[in-house]
Amino acid sequence: MAAFTNPIVEVSTDEDVTGYGEVNIVEGITSDTPTTAIEIVENYIGHEIIGKDAFDIEKIAEIMDENVRGNWSAKTGIEYALWDAIGKYLEQPVYNLLGGKYVNRIEVDYTLSMNTPSKMAEMALEMMKYGYKTFVVKVGLSNELDVARLAAVRKAVGPDVKLRLDVNEAYTVDKAIKMIKAFEKYDPEAVEQPLPSWDIKGMARVARAVDTPISADEGNSSPQAALQLIENEAVDILNIKPPYHGGLWNSKKVASIAYSAGVPIIVGGVLQFEISRQASRHFAISTKMANAGYAHEGPGPASQALTGNVTKHVISYEDVRQWGGFVELTDEPGLGFELDWSQVEKHSKSTA
Ligand SMILES: [Mg+2]
Repeated sequence: MAAFTNPIVEVSTDEDVTGYGEVNIVEGITSDTPTTAIEIVENYIGHEIIGKDAFDIEKIAEIMDENVRGNWSAKTGIEYALWDAIGKYLEQPVYNLLGGKYVNRIEVDYTLSMNTPSKMAEMALEMMKYGYKTFVVKVGLSNELDVARLAAVRKAVGPDVKLRLDVNEAYTVDKAIKMIKAFEKYDPEAVEQPLPSWDIKGMARVARAVDTPISADEGNSSPQAALQLIENEAVDILNIKPPYHGGLWNSKKVASIAYSAGVPIIVGGVLQFEISRQASRHFAISTKMANAGYAHEGPGPASQALTGNVTKHVISYEDVRQWGGFVELTDEPGLGFELDWSQVEKHSKSTA
């Protein structure tokens, strides 16, 4: 990844309040590209919601869905901007509009990108200095190497650190069962999305065959998908990525399904700047099932390699260290960030 290409959405109101949201683009996963997201926001959805009441998020979501099917990232940009605007108008942090603070701080995890086993172990040791107690080990390319990756990281971090595996849909049912049984020697916390997103029955077979909890990420694409995964006993955990669900309101719908079934939530991360990270933090801190013992990536600091930012303040790894492996939220109104316009300008030019 050489650069983020996330459009910023601005929603202005006649109450002298302006909200901002961020569209999260990963072309291989989202149905949006930067160009299509801007086109959809400007020409297919934006003018349909002009004049509506910014508080009417449920209705505006319906209008967006009637005009464009899917394209959740683009819609999330608008939805986040609405929450930011109404929070600022009410002079309340968004979490106070979503159920309040269920906890005072959110535990974060760190994702170890796929690399050689020794490089991944090294990275885990490096990040433990910042207080991380949960790591996501990316696997899925090669049988022996996948086990070697987990083994190397476990050996480096010791028995008390939690290690979660993320397969990103790469296995078949038979392979998943075989691999997870091999992983179990190294005490994984959970295995995420071992099978393709559509294979709910297959996930159920895997979940029945192994002891390790199974999580759905790519497969958990809507409240309806979450319900099907749970009804089919295909998951023990749901990973929710608010930017892929159309924003905070839809994510709360998924959270209600998880709550009803007693299924813990992980708030996953994508390629997010601080705007979208803040939104994920408001979601996580206000959601009971997101505080059921699993750490989160989405609420953590923005990208590992990020060298520029578009907001004045950015939560950093140093902050995570000071908060002991957690992140905290202030009571700033709205989503709680301030855009740095010189940076917005700078980065707009660099990608134009
Ligand atoms: Mg994942």
